[in-house]
Amino acid sequence: MQKLIELKKDENILVSSTISNFLSPDYLYLAIKNDSEILVSKKTSVKIGDPLIINNTQTITSPSSGLIKSIKKMSSLAKTEYFLEIENDFEERSNKPPITQNNLNKLTKEEINNLIDSHIFIDKDYLILNALDDEPYILTENFYLFAYYEEFLELLDNLSKIYNIPNVYVCVKSNSSTNINKLMSALGMYPHIELKILPDLYLLGKESFLCNYLNITNDLTIKASTFYSIYNTLVRKRSTFDKLITISGDALKNPMIIKVKIGTLLKDVVNEFFKITTPNPLFIANGLMMGQVINIDNFVITDEFLGLLIMKPKEPKESGKCLNCSLCSEVCPVSLNPLLFNDKKYYEEAKKICLNCGLCSYICPVYINFFKEGVHYE
Ligand code: SF4
Ligand code: SF4
Repeated sequence: MQKLIELKKDENILVSSTISNFLSPDYLYLAIKNDSEILVSKKTSVKIGDPLIINNTQTITSPSSGLIKSIKKMSSLAKTEYFLEIENDFEERSNKPPITQNNLNKLTKEEINNLIDSHIFIDKDYLILNALDDEPYILTENFYLFAYYEEFLELLDNLSKIYNIPNVYVCVKSNSSTNINKLMSALGMYPHIELKILPDLYLLGKESFLCNYLNITNDLTIKASTFYSIYNTLVRKRSTFDKLITISGDALKNPMIIKVKIGTLLKDVVNEFFKITTPNPLFIANGLMMGQVINIDNFVITDEFLGLLIMKPKEPKESGKCLNCSLCSEVCPVSLNPLLFNDKKYYEEAKKICLNCGLCSYICPVYINFFKEGVHYE
């Protein structure tokens, strides 16, 4: 059994229980990956759904109607530097008729095959919807499920019938009682979908840890955020232009879950909803354990972005002398010994399996930070 750990929570950091919207930013920025082809030129007027960029085989369409402005260097969690800038005209012009819900009963294998890589569903024993967030204070996956639970249950039910998948689980953490109650009443319609209420343990949201915990193999495990894109493709027949993000931290009083358009500037969202009174706060993307400190100026919300913690700056705790207590190696979920990271040969092998989970630094009683001194210092 892999090791899982219960993280101590800071009571000053809250997470909202409702979703707000920020769906009409002034500008949107679409990532231009290496070897992409840009299909539009400056000053082109575009509608929602117009093809703008081809990344390998994927066509990126416009999330907004407006004017193509320029190509800009921006920062993000995507491994790309350049972005196509669209100035929103707020007219919401679209190249498609308004969304009509596809009748799920008419969804066929052939149709699914035309829309997504459907071989993932074939010959599976388990279909798992994973709504577990790993990071404390980030509840993005959890809220995807609870914003769309009726739609998701119906699609799960249909996919399991179409592909003869005998077991369907929906996995949530036990600390979300209001949402669990909603889900339980909806599940009455789907007797073969099982709700798995799981403890709040760090890394349980990772697929291998979750399947190990549930003692299952031959599964197809899908994160709730990914299932939202599948739902849009199969049922609403459209690209996914929006996403949920969590914004929290001890430097603000009103944490929120916000629905934003992919490509929005993070700073626009922060300025719209939050008054930060703390001078020089720390902005941490994607959580305290596995996240990274960012500068929110020119930072674009891409698919990889799950949430932001706005934190009061703290005095770094002085790192002491190693006590040889072995806690760092005992806690490591993949049985690495971080004390050996100075050995180049060991480190080269270790970084192939390290999860970047941060537990070794988190557990160290004398604040030795392996993020800087070991695997994470590159
Ligand atoms: S960051 Fe890497 S070395 Fe440290 S506990 Fe996690 S997996 Fe182990
Ligand atoms: S947890 Fe910290 S003090 Fe203990 S062995 Fe590891 S580095 Fe040394």
